[in-house]
Order: sequence, then structure tokens, then C-alpha cells
Amino acid sequence: MRLFQKILVANRGEIAIRIMRTCRELGIATVAVYSDADRRAPHVRFADEAVYIGPSPSRESYLCADRLIDAALSVQADAIHPGYGFLSENAAFASRCADAELVFIGPSPASIRAMGSKIAARQLMQAHGVPVVPGYDGADQRMETLNARALEVGFPVLVKASAGGGGKGMRIVSDASALEEALESAKREALSAFGDDTLLLERYIEAPRHVEFQILGDQHGALLHLFERECSIQRRHQKILEESPSPVLTPELRASMAEAAITAGRAIGYDNAGTVEFIVDPDGRFYFLEVNTRLQVEHPVTEGAVSYTHLRAHETKANLVCRLLLE
Ligand code: ADP
Repeated sequence: MRLFQKILVANRGEIAIRIMRTCRELGIATVAVYSDADRRAPHVRFADEAVYIGPSPSRESYLCADRLIDAALSVQADAIHPGYGFLSENAAFASRCADAELVFIGPSPASIRAMGSKIAARQLMQAHGVPVVPGYDGADQRMETLNARALEVGFPVLVKASAGGGGKGMRIVSDASALEEALESAKREALSAFGDDTLLLERYIEAPRHVEFQILGDQHGALLHLFERECSIQRRHQKILEESPSPVLTPELRASMAEAAITAGRAIGYDNAGTVEFIVDPDGRFYFLEVNTRLQVEHPVTEGAVSYTHLRAHETKANLVCRLLLE
């Protein structure tokens, strides 16, 4: 008996095809969805079935929860895989799938919500002893409070939008004279991008490393990590190149970061594939940044690294067995 007979992939492009390819390997039927712009797209041709979900703008198609759920019900799919982007981190969509008796292949709505706000995430992690960057994450958002707290944190300070993502609403402020203008423009940008202008302040770590841990949880209480990805090569706070293993982690640092990543996953009851992001300062101190509660474009970096490490581990074990046999 197979758990799923048919999965609707609520996405397009590379990630939709990646998911469908895995479904095919597992003998699960796949359903693509498409907008006007994607009538002849590769993911539509790759799938076993395809359902039209609306006009080209994603707000009227790939972001339209009703249409996706109706599409899944119309073809009798058991589950919806959201991929990344679009509705993948939308807790309301995850709940609506459950209401329609469709499995949302992603974390629980509660885990998504817990990590949807950078402020709430920081507070939760602090409560579980996971280190966060020194800063201010209070509810008092008055300009004079933010100003005063930024002076306490010290310069350079990083202003972040609590609802942020993709580096939006982020400002590095190097001295007090630029503070007010940076706070105001970050608020404006956050409001227009996320409909929420709540800010947090963090000490800006200079010459940082961005190192993230891949975690995997199931619904039986197992939670493990698949080591790290080094993502320090960035442009405008967005990753460009990633590699694994990270060339800068010592075995001790790797072990303590892995433990913090598992603690972070446990803190939100995580039961899916996810990523715990950390920033590492030049002295090797690490701090929690956020958890991405979804599949990521860069997961194959880990797949490659883990299978390589796995092979090496086997080789060592095999060598050891040979030696024991010979001795
Ligand atoms: P977003 O959700 O917008 O991507 P993150 O909090 O994940 O924001 O940060 C994105 C990038 O910004 C990080 O990878 C890192 O390069 C940089 N960054 C974040 N916080 C700090 C900090 N406190 N000091 C220095 N750089 C930071």
C-alpha cells in the first residue's frame, strides 16, 4: 500500500519538475497546475495530468489557494506539494489543505507561523538557549525607543523587518546620524512589501559567515540534521554560491551548531525538511538567524555532500573491517 497515489504540485519550473521526478521514482502519479503563461511549460509536459488554474499573474493563479485546492480535489489528489516560494510558507494555506482533507507536504501550520516573524522566532530561540545576535526585539516600536535601543546595541547596527525576507527592509547603519532616516525607510519598505512595519535591531556582524544546517523531521518524533551548507558568498544579502562542507567549521563548532539546529527544530516541533540559518562571526561565535520552513532550491548541495560523506564513511568502515579480518 502506497501512502500517496497522486500528488498535485502547486508550483512551476525547476522545483515542480524536481518533485515530480521523485514522485515518478516512487510510483506516485503527478498533477501539474498552470497559468496562461505556462500552457506549454516543461513542468506541464512532464506531469501525468495538468490542471489550468488561471491568468498569468501569480496572484490570480499560483497564489490562489481556492483554485489550487479545487484543482487537487477535481483530480482526486491525496496531497499538495507547495515546493518553495508561492504558498509554501503560508500557514493559512496549509490549514485549508487539511480542512479539505488534502495532505500539505510541508510543516505544520503552527511551525510555519512560529517562524513567520523574525521577532517571535528570536524570542522562542532565546527561550530554548539557542544564541541570537545581540539586539532589540521588543514590542515597543516607537521611534524614540528604536533610536535609544540602537544606540545601546552600538554601531554598526542592522535594522531588519520582522516580517522580512529576501533582504527587504534591511539597513546597515554605521553611525547615529544616519539612524533615523534608516529606521523610517526600513519601516516604509517593510510596510509596502509585507504589510507590517515592525522592526528589530541586531548588532551588525562584520565579515560574517552564513552557515546553515539542513534538518529533517518526521511525525514520529525523529529529528536529524544533514550537516551544513556554507552560504557566505552573497550579493545584497542574497546567497550566490553555496558549498558543503563549510571550509571554516572545526569539528567542535560543527557539533555545537548541529546541536543548536536540532534544538531550534525541536522548539517548533518541526516535522519536515527545513533549514536553520546561522551567522558566524570571525571569532567563531554563532548566532541563530531564522528557520526556512520549506524545501529550498539548494537542497541538492546537501544531497551531493551527504552522499559523498556517506561514501567516505563506508569506505573507512570497509577498510576497518578488512583490516580486522586480516589481523
Ligand atoms: P532575509 O530573511 O531577508 O533573507 P536574514 O535574516 O536571513 O534575512 O539575513 C540575510 C543575510 O543578511 C544573511 O545571510 C547575512 O548575510 C546578513 N545578515 C543578517 N543578519 C546579520 C547581522 N546581524 N550581521 C551581519 N549580517 C547579517
